[in-house]
Amino acid sequence: MIEITLKDGSTKKYKKGISAYSIAKDISESLARNVLSANFNGTKIELSTEILKSGELNFYTWNDDEGKLAFWHSSAHILAQTVLSLYPKVKLTIGPSIENGFYYDFDLGDQTISENDFPLIEKKFMFFASQKSEFRMKLLSKLDAQAFYKKEKNPYKLELIENLNDGEITFCDHSDFSDLCKGGHIPHTGLVKAIKLTNIAGAYWKGDENNKQLTRIYGISFPKQKFLKEYLTLLEEANKRDHRKIGKELNLFTFSNKVGLGLPLWLPKGTDLKNRLQSFLKKAQDKAGYKMVETPHIGKKELYETSGHFEKYGMDSFQPIETPRKKETFLLKPMNCPHHCEIYNSQNWSYKDLPVRYAEFGTVYRYEQSGELHGLTRVRGFTQDDAHIFCTPDQLEREFIKVIDLVTYVFKAVSFDVFTVQVSLRDPNNPEKYIGSERNWNLSEKAILMAADSKKLDYNIKYGEAAFYGPKLDFMVKDALGRKWQLGTIQVDYNLPVRFDLKYKTKNNEYMRPVMIHRAPFGSLERFVAILLEHSGGNLPLWLVPDHLIILTLSEKYEKYAQKVLNKLKINEIRALIDNRSETVGKKIREAQLKKYPYMLVVGEREMKDNVVSVRHRIDGDLGTLTIETFVKILSTEIKKSNLIQV
Ligand SMILES: [Zn+2]
Ligand SMILES: [Zn+2]
Repeated sequence: MIEITLKDGSTKKYKKGISAYSIAKDISESLARNVLSANFNGTKIELSTEILKSGELNFYTWNDDEGKLAFWHSSAHILAQTVLSLYPKVKLTIGPSIENGFYYDFDLGDQTISENDFPLIEKKFMFFASQKSEFRMKLLSKLDAQAFYKKEKNPYKLELIENLNDGEITFCDHSDFSDLCKGGHIPHTGLVKAIKLTNIAGAYWKGDENNKQLTRIYGISFPKQKFLKEYLTLLEEANKRDHRKIGKELNLFTFSNKVGLGLPLWLPKGTDLKNRLQSFLKKAQDKAGYKMVETPHIGKKELYETSGHFEKYGMDSFQPIETPRKKETFLLKPMNCPHHCEIYNSQNWSYKDLPVRYAEFGTVYRYEQSGELHGLTRVRGFTQDDAHIFCTPDQLEREFIKVIDLVTYVFKAVSFDVFTVQVSLRDPNNPEKYIGSERNWNLSEKAILMAADSKKLDYNIKYGEAAFYGPKLDFMVKDALGRKWQLGTIQVDYNLPVRFDLKYKTKNNEYMRPVMIHRAPFGSLERFVAILLEHSGGNLPLWLVPDHLIILTLSEKYEKYAQKVLNKLKINEIRALIDNRSETVGKKIREAQLKKYPYMLVVGEREMKDNVVSVRHRIDGDLGTLTIETFVKILSTEIKKSNLIQV
């Protein structure tokens, strides 16, 4: 007898082996119609897989990430089939699902594909999809697999197979198409009801610039036409909110090829914005017991060899800097942690001194592939809102709670109200992968979960996702368009304290290693500003906005009065400027709307005579005439209200 336990805890019993799909059907017809993938005893399986023993079975639909991934992974197979049928000389490489859809990398040889070809490819794709071909896995011997791709003259697949073990090489077939694949498919192609190819770009084989450049085609597919329509509307809205576009409109930042790709240049208004974010965070951190530190942008190579970062980033990053005389080698800082460890090591610590919390707005440099660079979200130099906490194992849970409080507080202040949390723990089947004692891991995993529970966080646990040096908790925010972004992270580290020989003296005069926590609520200020701009569509909270208002003169005659108004505003810390061009006030208002100033003050003859201003709100429109003092009072209160830190 096989006993199958389902997600809700209920069980099903079967006399003999049965496929996952048949079990879905046994549960309900609607589940059978909607199921996209399954997981048995923690391992991804095909729905056609015959289950022969008792265990836990989870089904996934379009509503689950796992379901979407199987859907998009399967769609990549259909795309490969389609492109191969239209361009028979193409060489297939790899095609994974990604966060929003999938891609496939092709070696097109001397052929080319452009966006103009997308409609034709999409049409053929839907033709293949509509054939309802089943996805079937098959096991091939290494020799047979190699023979298959030798016949196809495909060096890429041969290279992949070279690194696989005989007996573990599987292919997925559908219709008359076959591709090397590890598995994870939907039952059949007919479930794909809509496709949109979204982009085409160059991509190097295995991401290595020394390798051949391939053509990457991106797409996204859906189980209903309606979902595609919704997605396209969302995309249109997202394009309007593109932070690169808003950043330009608001004069926040720029890039220059002369300075270098991926190195943001902050303009005055952007710098002010960044500084406001930093001082907001600094105040919050001061209250939470952090001390600010500052460390240089470079460090000796040995420092990063000690920390292990050289091994991790060295080869793929900016290359070392050699000094002119003495043979000393430096690296641009890829992480702030090693520097903070050395600050910790600059004095002796007793258990009474802990926890120690060092915070720094530290700029770090990482060499991202040029194809990966994107506005402020993927850059080569960025400022982390970094901090490291050194504490005793017993203090871990309390420190975690404090960090969670800080992060959620920060999110609230910028109205990121919807966020989820992922807790990454060890893979229980592979304990040897991790550094640090069993006891410490148990302690820290328990501490994280207790902290997340006590803060009533909506979290899910991912086993096996922890770094080798410690478990972590990541915050994912959903922006106004429902897109998920990874922001803040809190990570326990048992590795660096060993590598840097960090210690403190216990009550019994023994030396112990402190536990280290890395944390960054925003992650990087660049990325955070980008997400903030896209989330708010450029309508930033009043406490952050570059300028609260613009004063519009009815004609140049009123410049002096406008200046007088401006001075009064400035004394009250209201950020404002004057538009005194000889344009109509109608045009000035329209432009001010586009620049997203929350308020506009119109001044002319009447306002000057009565010592008042005519107030317009960007969204609410005309608010009538007010004395300057009254307006200042109203706006100041509003600004304060928008900034929780001042309440
Ligand atoms: Zn596959
Ligand atoms: Zn760190």
